[in-house]
Amino acid sequence: MLPYGRQTIESDDWQAVYRALQSPWLTTGPLVDEFERQFARAVDSPEAVAVHSGTAALHAALQAAGVGPGDEVILPAITFVATANAAVYLGATPVFADVDPETLLIDVADVARKITPRTRAVIGVDYAGQPCDYQALRQLTEPHQLVLIADACHSLGGTYQGRPVGSLADLNCFSFHPVKPMTTGEGGMITTSHPEWAAAMRRFRNHGIDSTHRSRQAAITHHYDMSALGFNYRMTELQAALGLSQLRKVQRFTRRRAWLADRYGERWQDVPHVRPLANAPDRRHAYHLYVVRWSAAKSGLERDEAFRRLHALGFGVNVHYRPVYWHSFYQREFGLRPGLCRRAEQAYREILTLPIFPAMTAADVQRVVAALGDIADLRAAAA
Ligand SMILES: *Cc1c(COP(=O)(O)O)cnc(C)c1O
Repeated sequence: MLPYGRQTIESDDWQAVYRALQSPWLTTGPLVDEFERQFARAVDSPEAVAVHSGTAALHAALQAAGVGPGDEVILPAITFVATANAAVYLGATPVFADVDPETLLIDVADVARKITPRTRAVIGVDYAGQPCDYQALRQLTEPHQLVLIADACHSLGGTYQGRPVGSLADLNCFSFHPVKPMTTGEGGMITTSHPEWAAAMRRFRNHGIDSTHRSRQAAITHHYDMSALGFNYRMTELQAALGLSQLRKVQRFTRRRAWLADRYGERWQDVPHVRPLANAPDRRHAYHLYVVRWSAAKSGLERDEAFRRLHALGFGVNVHYRPVYWHSFYQREFGLRPGLCRRAEQAYREILTLPIFPAMTAADVQRVVAALGDIADLRAAAA
C-alpha cells in the first residue's frame, strides 16, 4: 500500500533519541529549550513554545489570546476537527467561514461577513501546506482588534511573500504528528512575537504553575504557585531530541515534496477528470498534502467509488476534510446544519488526497496518475 503520507526517519534521528534516553532529564529539560530556540530561529520568530501535540498548541494559543466563554472564533469549514475543538475547550463558539473553491483556504470576504462584537480571534488554516493570505486577514483583524492565529500544522517550510510560516500570524501553531512536515511522534509548537503570551503558554502547558522542577532545583526552593488552570501539555526530551534532528531536514523534505508536486503537475493534461488545487504565486507551498478535485461527471464515477477502487489497487488515498460542522457533535451542540458553507460542501464531495511524502519517487507518482486514469468509467461519462 502506498500511503498518502509517511514519516522519514533516518539513522541520525534514532541515534538522537537513543542519546536523549541516557540523559538525566526525560521530560522538559535542556533539549526542549534547545528545540524551542532552534525552531524559533528557523521560522524567524522571537519565541517558540513546545507542547505535546498540535491540538495542545491550538488550545494554548487560544487561551493566550484570551478566548473564553461567550467568545466567537472564526475558522474555515474545511479543516481537521482539532482546529474547532480548541475553541470549544475554552467555552467559545466556533464560527465557520466558507473556503475559496480554488485553494480551499479560508475565504477572507466570508470572514468579514462573520465578524460580530463577540468575535475574539480568527484562525487561518494553511490547508494542504499553502499559507493563507495573511495580509488580507490582518487587514480585517487589526481594525477589530482580533487575534490572528495560524493553524500551520500543514505548512512548516512554506513562505508567504518571502516570509516563513511561523512568523505570519500573532500565534502560529504546528503539529509534529508522523504525517506532518516533520515529526516528534506526537508533538506541537507555538511561535509568537509576544513574550507575555509565550510565558502564559509555558505556564499553561505545566498545570498553570509559574515555575518548573528545573527552575526550583536551581533556586533551591520547593515552593510553587499555581496561578491559573493549566494542563500537562509538556513535551518530553525524547520528542525534542527527534525534533532537533528532524528540524535540520525540513528544507530538504519541503524541496522533495515540491519536486513530487511538479511531477504530478506535469501529468494532469492526460487525466481530464482530475484537477489540482490552485497555488497563489506569492507563496511557497509546503505540500503536506497533494489534494485534487475528482470530477464525477467527467469520469463517470463518484469520488467515494474512486476512493474504493484506488484502495483496492494499493493506493492509500484519503479525503481531507469533511466540513467540521457536519460532524454529529457540532450538529448536536451548536445546532449547525448542512448548507452553511456551500463551497466547502461542494469541495468535500470532490476532493481526494493523493500520496506525497519525501521518500516517494517519480515512478510512484506515475503509478498513481495511471491508476487515476484506469479506474475512470469513461463510457459512463460519455453516456
Ligand atoms: C494535525 C492537525 C492538527 C492537530 O495536530 P495533532 O498534533 O495531531 O494534535 C490540527 N490542525 C490541523 C489542520 C492538523 O492537520
